[in-house]
Amino acid sequence: MPEQKTKVFIDLDDTLFDTKSLKAQNYLLFNEIPGNTGLLSREEFGELLNSELGSHKGTVFTPAAMIELLQRKGYNTEGLAKRRKEMMKSANKYFKPEIYQWIVKNFPREKYEYIIYSYGDPNFQHEKLTACGIEKDFDKILYISTDKVETLQKYISQNESFVLFEDKLKIVEGVHQRHPNATIYHVDGLRIGQYNF
Ligand SMILES: [Mg+2]
Repeated sequence: MPEQKTKVFIDLDDTLFDTKSLKAQNYLLFNEIPGNTGLLSREEFGELLNSELGSHKGTVFTPAAMIELLQRKGYNTEGLAKRRKEMMKSANKYFKPEIYQWIVKNFPREKYEYIIYSYGDPNFQHEKLTACGIEKDFDKILYISTDKVETLQKYISQNESFVLFEDKLKIVEGVHQRHPNATIYHVDGLRIGQYNF
């Protein structure tokens, strides 16, 4: 039987992909939308989103839900979906090749099983992954819509050694608690640090 490869789990948002900057660009897209009470400012847009969409509201953010929300609030969303699609065509600028190259150099793909995992709407997450141009490098793609740590559990056996790259400390700590022997890296912008406990 061939030896099983060690798994490398890599998060997408803010680990391999600069999601924060995409969000900022997203805001610009909505800046000039006419509505019942005038143009929608960046601040108003942010407030609207926070009040009605997002994981704290028990919903998964999607561009379609965002546009639907604006329509409901009386904003003119004509052409918005198309402009957003156009915007996503240049989203490869948010890919962080420095991080990915570091991973590939230290954990060569021939020797490791590559698994990308990502919380959110599968279509939207897929759009971002496609923009990175590395989709084909992955043995598995996990789109997660519930708890990340709990979901990852399903793909890891009790004493398995594996590697994980993640930007959120809460996830880093959650995975470490369950798997103290895992090699975990915390990614912060373009910095990678092995998590020491
Ligand atoms: Mg992340």
